[in-house]
Amino acid sequence: MVNPVPTIQSNLPTILPLHSRNVAVIGAGAAGLVAARELRREGHKVVVLEKDNQIGGTWVYTPRVETDPIGLDPGREIIQSSLYSSLRTNLPREVMGYMDYPFVSRNRGSVDPRRFPGHMEVSKYLKEFARHFGIHEMVRYETEVVNVGLVENNKWKVRSKTRHDCYNDEIYDAVVVCNGHYTEPRIADIPGIDSWPGKQMHSHNYRVPEPFQDQVVILIGNSASAVDICRDIAGVAKEVYVASRSVADETYEKQLGYDNIWLHPMIESAREDGTVVFRNGNVVLADVILHCTGYKYHFPFLDTNGTVTVDDNCVGPLYKHVFPPVLAPWLSFVGLPWKVVPFPLSELQSKWIAGNLSGRLALPSQEEMMEDVKAFYSKLEDSGIPKRYTHNMDSYQFDYDDRLAEQCGCPGIEKWRKQMYNAVSKKRRDRPETYRDEWDDHDLILEAEEDFIKYTS
Ligand code: FAD
Repeated sequence: MVNPVPTIQSNLPTILPLHSRNVAVIGAGAAGLVAARELRREGHKVVVLEKDNQIGGTWVYTPRVETDPIGLDPGREIIQSSLYSSLRTNLPREVMGYMDYPFVSRNRGSVDPRRFPGHMEVSKYLKEFARHFGIHEMVRYETEVVNVGLVENNKWKVRSKTRHDCYNDEIYDAVVVCNGHYTEPRIADIPGIDSWPGKQMHSHNYRVPEPFQDQVVILIGNSASAVDICRDIAGVAKEVYVASRSVADETYEKQLGYDNIWLHPMIESAREDGTVVFRNGNVVLADVILHCTGYKYHFPFLDTNGTVTVDDNCVGPLYKHVFPPVLAPWLSFVGLPWKVVPFPLSELQSKWIAGNLSGRLALPSQEEMMEDVKAFYSKLEDSGIPKRYTHNMDSYQFDYDDRLAEQCGCPGIEKWRKQMYNAVSKKRRDRPETYRDEWDDHDLILEAEEDFIKYTS
């Protein structure tokens, strides 16, 4: 592939040979789909290996749950999606969608035109995206990657398994990992839990409230899912106790608007007689402990001889959360950061990866990238940020996005999107019951709609 690339110093355009690589993308969720699109746009040959029989990853809702409801048994059948039936997005459509393929209701027959739609609408959007950009033809369905390892000439051997247990080895120049990180449950450590007789489960396996009819449920966590699920369950359960690590130890509050939800600090211990003791001294006889305690990064197929490790949920070392310096740009990860707007972030990371693989963009030297990673880790440590928060980008996601965009030579995150995200985040905290149906950022919606015309007309 040969493309004209203007140099900065000379007025004459220089013709640089850009390279087309054979690239394997692992996973056809929101990250893998946009990675495939960007890689192909850049001229690479792309195969997307997807273990499911359809695209969408997280957004493919299934009523099925795993055989081990708490998700500890390594031999359990893995279900990718963690969606519950009532789930509506926690971001408005305008913010959530890819930058050049807005998440608007495209078909008149749209089943869910709400601004914070249900999960089926997101699944439909991703399917439309895949159809629009012809991504299906790159995807190999029902093909699970079981091993990725380096072979001679710095190439990658990717071993995959089909539905009929046929194994296939293939050689690629580069591998882009897009396997998602909301599937491997992380659970809370509770003293005495081994002899507690109740039922434990993780929110990964929560689908509908009915099984909790008349039960006493303790829900651990205060993330977006915990906020939704405790309200979902409160409609049928006898009592719901929310144990949160981010409240003071003496907390004991009834949830506003509910007469059967109470907020507590963390659990101190669980006892053989079925009771659970909270740090505020309260004791509750409970039927179920539901861990809404997040997920772990998990790459069971990745064999880098220790070059990339997961240590206390820090995947590293990774330059800018994407490239392991020693293996860059031949191995990369899309969509690792959390507390972000994932679709546009994955879109920008994918452009960056595609450009670095072709040679259109250049990374710093291995040593410089490693120095950058070390400096980043030191900064986190000096600020007292635990390692497990390494990929939490809450406070700087848009700076990160914009820096990627600058390197790729493409537009950064729109001003309205940043403002809308900040406004919604505040509303979600202040008014969790109503933020999805009541808003006042009409001016920003108008700005977004004007912006979208260039992609939808
Ligand atoms: P996934 O969607 O998990 O996709 C990974 C894909 O990789 C899957 O298709 C999987 O089958 C495949 N795969 C995995 N392992 C292999 C393998 N070994 N071989 C082959 N294929 C493999 N984001 C928002 O923007 N708005 C929201 O409102 C929102 N709500 C959320 C609610 C919940 C409960 C959860 C869990 C997440 C939510 N998110 C939300 C974040 C969401 O995860 C991202 O939006 C996005 O879907 C992540 O996409 P992904 O491609 O990184 O991962």
